[in-house]
Amino acid sequence: EPGTDDDDAPVGSRPTPITATEVKVNVSIPEAAERAATTGADGVGLLRIEHLVLSLGKTPERYIADEGSEAYIKELMSGVRTVAEAFYPRPVRVRTLDAPTDEFRQLEGGEDEPDEHNPMLGYRGIRRSLDRPEGFEHELEAFKRLYEQGYENLEIMFPLVTDGSDVAAAREHMRSVGIDPEKRDWGVMIETPASAMGIEDIIDEGVDFVSFGTNDLTQYVLAVDRNNEHVSDRFDELHPQVLGIMGDTIDACRAADVDTSICGQAASHPKMVDFLVRKGVTSISANIDAVVDVFEEVDRVESRLILDSVR
Ligand code: PEP
Ligand code: MG
Repeated sequence: EPGTDDDDAPVGSRPTPITATEVKVNVSIPEAAERAATTGADGVGLLRIEHLVLSLGKTPERYIADEGSEAYIKELMSGVRTVAEAFYPRPVRVRTLDAPTDEFRQLEGGEDEPDEHNPMLGYRGIRRSLDRPEGFEHELEAFKRLYEQGYENLEIMFPLVTDGSDVAAAREHMRSVGIDPEKRDWGVMIETPASAMGIEDIIDEGVDFVSFGTNDLTQYVLAVDRNNEHVSDRFDELHPQVLGIMGDTIDACRAADVDTSICGQAASHPKMVDFLVRKGVTSISANIDAVVDVFEEVDRVESRLILDSVR
């Protein structure tokens, strides 16, 4: 469940030397910002806002109807600002809302949410955002105001895109609230197989970066529900077909000078780190309690690569 894993994780500090591959940290609650910043991470690779929104106790639409747009925007600004401030000037990649309808349905206003047979394949992420643009544009408005307050380190990331048309539509919403996509760093999560297979079309829409959400990418490539204990032994982020699709995506992005990252759970797996560093991934973003281990693993892999190249 997003928002609970970084509650009271132990932190170490960054070992030297600094690595070429950036190591970042995932943040799910603003209260974890300070602790996340002291890891020495190169930035936040994924700032989730689901906890921020769900903890308001109402669906975005109900909250806006009851409390007003300004109240909703201010809540978002305050949570995101805490993280942008703690990391400034290091980059903070904030993701637009990505909660499944079964989580919204438990809130006040939840009766207006669709009751879905399979929420993970349904009305979530960018799909819900594009279908209900009011709350989505309030999120973007909050980010725009933070830019205006000087938090230039914010980057915007869109979840669960399928293809270039999702990306273009999301980008146009940035434009309509007054964020210039040419002047800000923004990108998308690669979580659907289609988004990886059609990466060229997504690159053509002008993204500055992509980030692998391997929790979802694995469930969709292998058709294994990430939350189903009966098939959990089949949930393998290191499956050759998952790595294959990621490797091809990195190649295409590197050829186009688009940054690549990973922010799924598998980011802290040594074999994943080894694979990604060798492929030339730009950054790896792990949970707070795993950041120091990832620094060390990246350092080990990079050192080996340097040795191999001189031998
Ligand atoms: C992922 O899918 O890997 C990811 C980071 O997003 P979430 O876990 O929030 O779905
Ligand atoms: Mg995901």
